[in-house]
Amino acid sequence: MFKVVIDPGHGGEDPGAVGPGGVQEKSVNLAVAKRIASLLSPVAEVRLTRTEEEALGTDDRSDLYGRAALANEWVADCFVSIHCNGAADPSAHGTETYHYPDSGQGRELAQAIHSRLIPDLGLTDRGVKQANFKVLRQTDCPACLVELAFISNPEEERLLENRDFQETAAQAVAAGIADFLGACLQPAPAPETVAPTNPELDDWKLKIVREAREAGLISQDHDPDESGAVWFVLAIALNLLKVVKG
Ligand SMILES: [Zn+2]
Repeated sequence: MFKVVIDPGHGGEDPGAVGPGGVQEKSVNLAVAKRIASLLSPVAEVRLTRTEEEALGTDDRSDLYGRAALANEWVADCFVSIHCNGAADPSAHGTETYHYPDSGQGRELAQAIHSRLIPDLGLTDRGVKQANFKVLRQTDCPACLVELAFISNPEEERLLENRDFQETAAQAVAAGIADFLGACLQPAPAPETVAPTNPELDDWKLKIVREAREAGLISQDHDPDESGAVWFVLAIALNLLKVVKG
């Protein structure tokens, strides 16, 4: 098993960047990081630098040192820090990924994740960049820092707090880490898209549509791709009609 450290940036007293709508970076980072950890669990042992809203240390210095030390003491295979970007200009937007200057493996890790994030999130590609961030400088293993999108941009803030967007981001980062490690990560089925176990289901639905149209319960252009609850209600309505008509 590979050993991966996922670092949800900020926490506790430090909310990170805060969007114009009040969304706090630390909470988005934590939600995405937790999903990455669970998506990677089939191929890696994953440790989060924090699992609650609190930070690791009492000040910035000890907090960032603690995050890197966790990876170093455990001798992790890679370290990925999750962040949302912030800028004074609310129009700043897009995704960027950082590695420590001259770290070849850090650059490889950053590129593997970034090349998954760009097509999946569909935001502006701001590129893979170098930065002398403390959390990257102090980690012994390949490390990178992901800025998913700009929380200071009203549109991207709305995306960042959206659960589907968070899930897409987590899947892309997990896939990028697996690519870097050379691990085979099976895509997890989304809970709401479990295949129907009854092969007769479609015929059953068509029969209900036909009967409901004949009975005048639905119009001729009713969309037969509604949710399961609609079918159930329609079936009950048809049966009620039969009882009423005797
Ligand atoms: Zn941050």
